[in-house]
Amino acid sequence: CADMAMYQVKGQGKNGCAAFLPHMQTTYLNRLSIENDLREAIKQGDQFELYFQPQIEALTGQATGLEVLIRWHHPKEGMISPDVFIPIAEETGLIVAISDWVLWKACSHFAALSAMGFDNLRLGINLSPREFDRSDFMERIQLPLEEFGVPPQLLDIEITESLLMKDVESIVARIQRLRDTGIHISIDDFGTRYSSLNYLRRFSVNRIKIDQSFVRDLGLSQDSYAIIQAIVGIAKNFKLNVIAEGVETAQQLEILHQLGCSEMQGYFFSRPLPFEKTLEFLKTTPQY
Ligand code: C2E
Ligand code: CA
Ligand code: CA
Ligand code: CA
Repeated sequence: CADMAMYQVKGQGKNGCAAFLPHMQTTYLNRLSIENDLREAIKQGDQFELYFQPQIEALTGQATGLEVLIRWHHPKEGMISPDVFIPIAEETGLIVAISDWVLWKACSHFAALSAMGFDNLRLGINLSPREFDRSDFMERIQLPLEEFGVPPQLLDIEITESLLMKDVESIVARIQRLRDTGIHISIDDFGTRYSSLNYLRRFSVNRIKIDQSFVRDLGLSQDSYAIIQAIVGIAKNFKLNVIAEGVETAQQLEILHQLGCSEMQGYFFSRPLPFEKTLEFLKTTPQY
């Protein structure tokens, strides 16, 4: 089938392999065009927007932080989900430029919020494992913080377990350097990957985020209940904060609360909001 792509391009695919070629090719071309369009978007800058999802202390209803989530308004395709373009950005290395944009933009929004009195909200930023491979990663994180006067304690970097799985000395050291400046580290999508938990001893993290897949099944599945119970127990024993993601119903809130998880995030409280709407939300919400 080596020449199939060529046949297909010429519209001459006639044998058995042709049946699955169009799909494969579309996927391939889509990836390529997304990559090209991403490069263009990074150059232009104005196709990206940041949304903010409030994090809430359920008992008091106070907002404790905002998770920053990127949106891409593609000029032709409309909104493209970060679940689609972030993995491509990671594979191609474009994620570095995107993360820079996110960090600078988020810090500038923080300064605006701060000027309006919302100066005590944690800013949750998603960083990809690849960032940590870069030798200048400290500067790239610290520069926008300094520029916009964001206290390091209010930056909460969300990383996934896959970074910690590498378990190399340099990652331990890098995370420690971030922690030494006061920056917080959260483990995102906790419990969804193969993990030994061993890393919790070695990495100095502040918070674990219970993945929304467990929260979704709460009340439906005894397993999810048991898993969340176990995660909250782990958090307690390791003296870590814990926050549940994807909380959509009062019933989920109730069960999470009983299990001892008090901080939450999800559509039940608010969807991710553009900046102006975030402001409106905060104006009617008690602050931490
Ligand atoms: P994530 O970090 O796990 O973010 C949570 C996702 O769940 C977000 O999707 C959010 O909109 C969605 N969500 C929040 N509450 C609920 C809920 O109650 N129910 C349901 N069903 N979903 C909820 P989003 O914004 O589409 O982002 C998808 C993923 O893309 C993120 O997953 C994160 O891994 C990645 N991502 C988003 N923004 C960035 C970014 O700036 N940088 C990097 N590196 N990755 C990002
Ligand atoms: Ca996240
Ligand atoms: Ca997550
Ligand atoms: Ca996720």
